[in-house]
Amino acid sequence: MKDSYGREINYLRVSVTQRCNFRCAYCGAADPDARELSPGQFALFAAAFARAGITKIRLTGGEPLMREDIAEIAAAVREAARPETLAVTTNGVLLAQKAAALKKAGVNAVNISIDTLDGDCFRRMTGRDALAAVTGGLETALALGFDRVKVNTVLLRGVNDGDADRLVALARDYPVDVRFIELMPTGGMADYRERLIPSGELLARFPGLAPAPGGDGVAVCYAAEGFLGRIGFISPVSQKFCHRCNRLRLLADGRVKPCLGQPDAYDLLPYLNDPERLYEEICHCIQKKPAGHHFEQDRGLDPMNRIGG
Ligand code: SAM
Ligand code: SF4
Repeated sequence: MKDSYGREINYLRVSVTQRCNFRCAYCGAADPDARELSPGQFALFAAAFARAGITKIRLTGGEPLMREDIAEIAAAVREAARPETLAVTTNGVLLAQKAAALKKAGVNAVNISIDTLDGDCFRRMTGRDALAAVTGGLETALALGFDRVKVNTVLLRGVNDGDADRLVALARDYPVDVRFIELMPTGGMADYRERLIPSGELLARFPGLAPAPGGDGVAVCYAAEGFLGRIGFISPVSQKFCHRCNRLRLLADGRVKPCLGQPDAYDLLPYLNDPERLYEEICHCIQKKPAGHHFEQDRGLDPMNRIGG
C-alpha cells in the first residue's frame, strides 16, 4: 500500500521485547514493566499487516532471542502473514543455541550486530564478555544456510573505529554483507556529535571498494576484489533516505510507530479481535507516516531497544 507521499510500504519491523542482555551505550534502557504481546497476538497483527501489503517482516527488539518463545513467535508470524522474507536482528549471543529452531520456524534471514572483534572493546561496549559466543552464533548461522546472513556495525569515533579493517575483513572471509550504520541520536548520548562518523568519511578509508548493485533501499553497497560478501553503508544522518523509506514498526506492546525519528505511536491492541477495524487502523497508520525524521532537532526520540532498531 502506498502512503500519502507515494512510498510503497511493504516492510514491517516487529519489536518483540524491549529487554536486552547487553548494555550498548548508544542504544537505550528498557521499561521493566513494559507489556509484551504473545505469539498469537503477533500472528493476528501479522495477518492484518500482510493484508495491507507487508511482504517483509523483521523480528527485533531489545534482544529478540531473550524471549523463550521466539521460535513460536516466528512460526506464528510466518503462518499468519506468509512473508517473502522473515528476518531476525540479534546481538548474536544466544544465536548458536537458537538458530536451528528459528530456521525450522521459517526465518530465512539473520542480521547479527557486531561492533568490534576485539574482546576487551566488546566488553566495554556491551557490558558482556561475550565476543566468542557472538562469533559462534555467526558461524552457526552460516553453517545452517540461511538465505542471507548480514553483520551490522555501528562505529563510534575513538571507541571502536580502529576495528573497521577487521570488520571489513569479515566480508572478505565469509559470505556475509557487513553494513556500517551511522550512529543515530536516539540513545541520548551526551557526546553523540563527537562520536558520530559520517559514512563518507569511513568510505574514504577503503579505496579498494567499488560501487556494487543490490542495496536494499537503505544500504549503499560496495564490493572488493576477492571478497565473498559486500560492504554496505547505511547513512540515516548524513544522507537522509526518508524519501525511500518503506517501513512501519510494531512495538512489543501493540503500538504502531510510523517513523523511527518521530514520537507518534498508535495503540492498536484494542482492535486486535476486530480484524476489519485493525486493518483500517493499520491503513490509517500508513497514511500518517511523516515525510521524514527530525534527527537534527534531537528531541522526542525513542531509544532503539524500545522501538526495534
Ligand atoms: N539487540 C539486537 C541487536 O543488537 O541486533 C536487535 C535490536 S538493536 C536496537 C538493532 C540495531 O540497532 C543494532 O544493529 C544496533 O547496533 C542498532 N542501534 C541501536 N542504537 C543505535 C543508534 N543510536 N544508532 C545507530 N544504530 C543503533
Ligand atoms: Fe541490546 Fe541491541 Fe540495544 Fe545493544 S543494540 S543494547 S544488543 S538492543
